[in-house]
Amino acid sequence: MDITVIGCWGAYPEKNEATSGYLVESEGSKILLDCGSGVLSRLQNHCPLEELDAVVLTHTHADHIADVYSLEFAILILMRIGRRTKPLDIYVNGEERGGLTFEYPENVRVHSIRAGTVLTIGEVKLEFSENMHDIPCLAVKLTSREGKTLVYSGDTGYCQAIIDFSRNVDVLLIESSFYDWQAGIMKWHLTAGEAGRIAALAGAGQTILTHFPHYGELNQLVAEASRHYAGQIRLAHCGMQINI
Ligand SMILES: [Zn+2]
Ligand SMILES: [Zn+2]
Repeated sequence: MDITVIGCWGAYPEKNEATSGYLVESEGSKILLDCGSGVLSRLQNHCPLEELDAVVLTHTHADHIADVYSLEFAILILMRIGRRTKPLDIYVNGEERGGLTFEYPENVRVHSIRAGTVLTIGEVKLEFSENMHDIPCLAVKLTSREGKTLVYSGDTGYCQAIIDFSRNVDVLLIESSFYDWQAGIMKWHLTAGEAGRIAALAGAGQTILTHFPHYGELNQLVAEASRHYAGQIRLAHCGMQINI
């Protein structure tokens, strides 16, 4: 399973970068996890849009969905000019398509997902767990045919559910929106120290911090998480590739 970080910023993208977006390729399937601002442009460095199989949206905050309507137009045009032959599957957290309004059902097939949903895309199994966030948000676990696992946290506050869901995962891709000195500022996101505690309690094989703040020294996030977690821990960056 190959994971490529398309974007890793919280809230809005830094210059020439993107907010949340992660491409997962495994046994021929190409799955995009979240489609935030700047993701559609940067995604094309790694995956022709003709080849994208599915998009999974953890929740409907703008930094996770901002480019999804532009992606719908891309699929519409690529199908009309014959460069793409099959519709794109978009999996949206919640009933009523999460309130999203896609206009071209012959090009984009929208499916609802929730905690407990189990999907298979290509040969990858996807499972979901409810987070603690100010709107409904799902963490997602992907399991390859070889049994390798990735958990992407989406956005969450500190909760037991994300620890249980991430138990013994090979790669934990987890949000780290705040520095430890900001603990308590917002219960819907994690500090780096909380991300490290979750990684340690879950027994994650390696940990990638993401969904960054736009201030401070990001390496401090690694230092703060490492006080709790002894495994390998790194900062995500646009274009980063992880193979498991
Ligand atoms: Zn976010
Ligand atoms: Zn959010």
